[in-house]
Amino acid sequence: MSRRAGDVPDLVRRATEADPRAVARLISLVENDSPVLREVAAALAPYGGHAQVVGLTGSPGVGKSTSTSAIVTALRAAGKRVGVLAVDPSSPFSGGALLGDRVRMQDHATDPDVFIRSMASRGQLGGLSAAVPQALRVLDAARCDVVLVETVGVGQAEVEIASLADTTLLVVAPGFGDGIQAAKAGIIEIADVFVVNKADRDGADQVARDLRYMQSLGGRHSVPGAWRPPIVKTVASRGEGVEDVLAALQKHCAWMAQHGELERRRQARAAAEIEAIALGTVQRRFAQVHGSAALSAAAERVVAGETDPYTAADRLVEAL
Ligand code: GDP
Repeated sequence: MSRRAGDVPDLVRRATEADPRAVARLISLVENDSPVLREVAAALAPYGGHAQVVGLTGSPGVGKSTSTSAIVTALRAAGKRVGVLAVDPSSPFSGGALLGDRVRMQDHATDPDVFIRSMASRGQLGGLSAAVPQALRVLDAARCDVVLVETVGVGQAEVEIASLADTTLLVVAPGFGDGIQAAKAGIIEIADVFVVNKADRDGADQVARDLRYMQSLGGRHSVPGAWRPPIVKTVASRGEGVEDVLAALQKHCAWMAQHGELERRRQARAAAEIEAIALGTVQRRFAQVHGSAALSAAAERVVAGETDPYTAADRLVEAL
């Protein structure tokens, strides 16, 4: 298919009518940093703000994919249109079958009101952090009521991706030691709802108790009036407890709306996004204007004691 800019308005129009091919095409364009990325972003701008973005993270094997699928089933039963982005910050593959297989989405593959997409980092987290918000905008424009963003682990990369969500679910399960890992990665701080999956297994109550204990130790959620993340037990493979997860999501959404938190989070995200784009532009401009020769020349003068690094840096910045 052509990459001409002229295609963009038509693609966006079709995406707003929930045409799955247009949605897939637009996500490919934003994912691949296409030359028409700016035009796509501009055309999507009026269609944002509808979808509730729900991040789902946790260690491999805890049941994220099973939970995602069960949540999709429950949302579809409630008549909602759903998007799913399966994001793997550690995988060098993109849009490929690997994640497609991992996500247990076969039940939803033929549902025209469910959009599923895998995204991987191609080795650089920066690329993924930039592409995921754009893909979210595409799914938002396609009038998804909820977009689930599933990430793979509980590391720093996942914290970054999860922070793109309005509501973040941390899925844990007995036998994974996730509570501790999550605390280390700081994800306890960004989780809005804890899901203890595999509640049919021994140890689920202990995991819930551990989480409650960690919550009691302080942090963002212990401030008076703050949202206190509920701990929901599920057996995702049987769909048990999924209604409770949806109820917790709704409650969090209502709480955020009531306290101005949704606006605050979305503005903070937009600010971070603008800053990243602007700094990227400045960095590129710096390289264009100065090249490595100017930097080397300035470095020589600093080493020779003819100037200091702050003055040298100021000169280079002023010349932009
Ligand atoms: P992910 O790697 O976190 O996405 O985990 P998966 O969704 O792929 O699930 C990992 C394994 O746990 C699979 O074999 C699932 O069938 C199984 N599983 C998922 N949920 C449950 C559950 O609630 N109870 C039990 N016993 N097994 C589950």
